[in-house]
Amino acid sequence: MKTSAQNWLNVGLGFLYPEICQLCGEQRATAQEGFVCRHCWTQVRFIRPPFCERCGLPYPGDLTAPFECTNCREMELHFTSARSAVVASGIVREVVHRFKYQRALWFEPFLADLLIREAKSALLEQHWDFIVPVPLHPVKHREREFNQAERLASHLSAATGIPLNRKWLRRVIPTATQTLLTREQRATNMRGAFAVTDHAGLDGERIVLVDDVFTTGATTSACAKVLQSAGAGDICVWTVARGL
Ligand SMILES: [Zn+2]
Ligand SMILES: [Zn+2]
Repeated sequence: MKTSAQNWLNVGLGFLYPEICQLCGEQRATAQEGFVCRHCWTQVRFIRPPFCERCGLPYPGDLTAPFECTNCREMELHFTSARSAVVASGIVREVVHRFKYQRALWFEPFLADLLIREAKSALLEQHWDFIVPVPLHPVKHREREFNQAERLASHLSAATGIPLNRKWLRRVIPTATQTLLTREQRATNMRGAFAVTDHAGLDGERIVLVDDVFTTGATTSACAKVLQSAGAGDICVWTVARGL
């Protein structure tokens, strides 16, 4: 069912769009490649150690001692650890923006590939019970017609075999965009934004929270907080991109 829908999508996109990179508009790129050519691909910056053990913030230079970044010192984070595949700059930033706000859905395979490349092996080293996407508020979901976090989470679920769960976590307050807010304002903005459904019956499940971009961790931490209060066990966060 899903495969045929995907094929249909590819056929549809192939018909509508020539196999040209949708970033540079010059090189060849297929639907399977998310319409990003090899040349543009080389501009992706993968996150490599050293980084903050807690929130995954890359740290320039060498580290000799475990370090806690400014972000973690100022935020109360409710997940155990957060990791991102790539830095949210350059083409990645552009792709995420166009995917999310301009319905550039053909970029989905590209973004899913970045996430799976980095998250799959890390997740399979331990046991995780469920992958939970950061939900959109129903009103926003209706407007946007898709939830980018849910799309990415479903690819990660298919690649790892960890089941997807989109029933437990709900967004109950339609929060304003966080882009222009400070770290403190973001945390306040997220207070009470999420809730766990009454009948979730959580009992120590180890959960992987998935979102598109991690900035301060305010959103994913608010999700982790309610999941933990409802009885979840360890919670880790994976996002495609990390804002610096
Ligand atoms: Zn290109
Ligand atoms: Zn940190």
